[in-house]
Formats: sequence, structure tokens, C-alpha cells
Amino acid sequence: MEAKHTPGPWKAVDVRDARNNPSGYAVWQDIERPFSDSPRGNKICATPDGTTPQNKANAALIAAAPELLEALEMLVVTDNDKSCPYCTKTEWGEEKHDEDCVYHRAYKIIAKARGENQ
Ligand SMILES: [Zn+2]
Repeated sequence: MEAKHTPGPWKAVDVRDARNNPSGYAVWQDIERPFSDSPRGNKICATPDGTTPQNKANAALIAAAPELLEALEMLVVTDNDKSCPYCTKTEWGEEKHDEDCVYHRAYKIIAKARGENQ
């Protein structure tokens, strides 16, 4: 499936105020822009003001999202002939796992990350 979000990787950076002090965190697309005043790519989002550890952790989590989604998509794509090692199902597929199976949860999280089923 073609991703609709801004292509990764993304990076979390501290945001500077007019006096060049950190004032919060933002998530940017991690690309080079050699002909721009900004060395960063496209802005994805910003945390509330403040360089709290929670804001920093939130920015880091958001910045990892494209790579987390890609890794999870790779994990759930597997051989259809194998039994699930985490539940009683013998077939793979979005609706074919027990509700408490990690693969069932993975499919739901992938749909959430893609903005589906909302
Ligand atoms: Zn399963």
C-alpha cells in the first residue's frame, strides 16, 4: 500500500526561541535542503512549549512512527502456510487471529497508523 504520510525518516529536534534557547521540540522530515535557509526538511508537528522530558519523549516517539509502521508491516507479512505461533489459528490474515493474539493487535495498530477504520 502506498503511504499517504510524509515519507520518513523523520527526526525530532529542539526548537529555539529568539535568543537561541530551546523552547520545545518539533518533528521534521529528515531530508537535506541545500538551497534553503533551514537545514531541515518538511515540518511534521511540534510539541507544546517546554523542554520537558515528556515533550522530548513524545517528539522521539512521533519521529520514529514511519519506521515503526514499516517494521510492523514487514512483520505481519509472512508465509500463509504457517500456523500462528501466538494463537490457535492456522491461517494468516487480518481477521484470522484470536483477539488476544499479537498479530491481531498488530493489524489493528497498522490500520490506526494509516488512518483506516476511524
Ligand atoms: Zn495469531
